[in-house]
Amino acid sequence: MDENLKIICPQCQKEIEKTSLGECPSCGYYFPLSPPERIALVADKGSFVEMSGGMQSSNPISLAGYEDKLVENRKKSSMNDAVTIGSCTIDKQKAILGVMSFSFMGGSMGSVVGEKIAEAMIEGCLSGSPVILFTASGGARMQEGIFSLMQMAKTASAAALLDETRTPLFIVLTNPTTGGVTASFAMLGDVILAEPGAIIGFAGPRVIEGTIKEKLPPSFQRSEFQLERGFVDLIVKREGLKGMLSYLIKTHVRSEPRG
Ligand SMILES: [Zn+2]
Repeated sequence: MDENLKIICPQCQKEIEKTSLGECPSCGYYFPLSPPERIALVADKGSFVEMSGGMQSSNPISLAGYEDKLVENRKKSSMNDAVTIGSCTIDKQKAILGVMSFSFMGGSMGSVVGEKIAEAMIEGCLSGSPVILFTASGGARMQEGIFSLMQMAKTASAAALLDETRTPLFIVLTNPTTGGVTASFAMLGDVILAEPGAIIGFAGPRVIEGTIKEKLPPSFQRSEFQLERGFVDLIVKREGLKGMLSYLIKTHVRSEPRG
């Protein structure tokens, strides 16, 4: 790496070079990973085959400026919307992956995100492969009004199909996972993992402080806080993530559907 790649860590404010895992070598802060980086971290090399990559959002409530915003975000993130889905293998075991990206309109869930998450789940049901979803989201996409809220019901219904067909759903919560994503499929996994230090909640701390007129502790809504309260099953560091997912796939083989 050359000098130009030095950046300021937002957590410890030191000038650092990110490690290959996107970590600050000084304080361990995790920089966000793009879907291709995330896929490279967990999937067997060259095994990922994207599904519905070309799907784009329309402007369902004809909101002024939304289409321009979509164009701008597509350019900025090199994605068509805030999630990438597809099939892959992890230690030669088949899985369906979905990876959200905060860099596309704050990882907000509109009709395309909801549709693709549901599609990944249905593909898991049909193929019998476990579904692994990495979440990162500011919540519902307000620009799509009621259509974004409907994605909560849609993804939760698709998660119920996974349950009915006894197909495992593994969630990996990354920083931040909030709003309508937390309030729907992100909390419906059979096993819910989280990256260290990730903010996981519904409304953010500032909104809650404003409502209850009390100061919240700095650890509020972090992965470690949610682990203690049972929302998270396990906190896994990036270097151990592929091994953990591989272990979960191996130990959660689909059984016969309920009679
Ligand atoms: Zn740092």
